[in-house]
Amino acid sequence: MRVHHLNCGSFSSALIGRLVCHVLACETDAGIVLVDSGFGLADVADPIGRVGKYAKLTGARFRESETAVRQLGKLGLDPSDVTHIVATHLDFDHIGGVADFPNATLHTTAAEEAASEGRSSFREKVRYRPAQLTPRPRTHTYSGPGESVLGFSGAHPIDGVGDRIVLVPMPGHTRGHAAVAVDTGDRGWLLHAGDAFYHRSTVAAPGQVSPGTAGRALRVMEELIAVDRSKIRGNHRRLRELNNQVAPRVRVFSAHDPTLFEELAAERG
Ligand SMILES: [Zn+2]
Repeated sequence: MRVHHLNCGSFSSALIGRLVCHVLACETDAGIVLVDSGFGLADVADPIGRVGKYAKLTGARFRESETAVRQLGKLGLDPSDVTHIVATHLDFDHIGGVADFPNATLHTTAAEEAASEGRSSFREKVRYRPAQLTPRPRTHTYSGPGESVLGFSGAHPIDGVGDRIVLVPMPGHTRGHAAVAVDTGDRGWLLHAGDAFYHRSTVAAPGQVSPGTAGRALRVMEELIAVDRSKIRGNHRRLRELNNQVAPRVRVFSAHDPTLFEELAAERG
């Protein structure tokens, strides 16, 4: 399976440094499958209308050239071949691009779908933006016991794609947050952990990567944004173990760490 690593949104501020929105474009037998979608054309055209005034506080940059639809075109791929979008969660910086792919089915957990429709707290009103999901895309949701994948129980192969792309529920950042595991074949497994962690130091072997000022600030931000702090700490522990196991080798990365993005984009680009 050919996998392209795209940065579909940038953030920048003095405190947290530079962040990306890491999106995968997987060329599969079932068409192009995106994992997350970053910001889309409508977000670039009307950031406040789509994302809301709080988006400015995050230091988000909106650039047409970074949208998935434009980047697929530059790669010589046809955006109308995008058949599925698997979302780690439905925060505004992960699903803005969904509207650019009207042929695609959106895949998420039932818990995340319910949280984004209910928007029952101030935090959820800020993070889930109805304008981005109006009209509501065709959505397939997952719940129930699922299967065991990479040591995580409750995982669900993506309907219509097969068992090489798997939704791995990992709540904590949001109520229905999930990681997405991709079996690339000869290059092993990728685990897109979404916002289950932010900075690479979180999943590195102890003492291997210094968090620095940005890493420490991001850890504080994670705790402030999370719906369940004890769950995100448990997720960190499990992701660190997975990232440092010898076999099978799994490349663990977050949606927003720019160094992990650049390493993978350089290897596989
Ligand atoms: Zn995010």
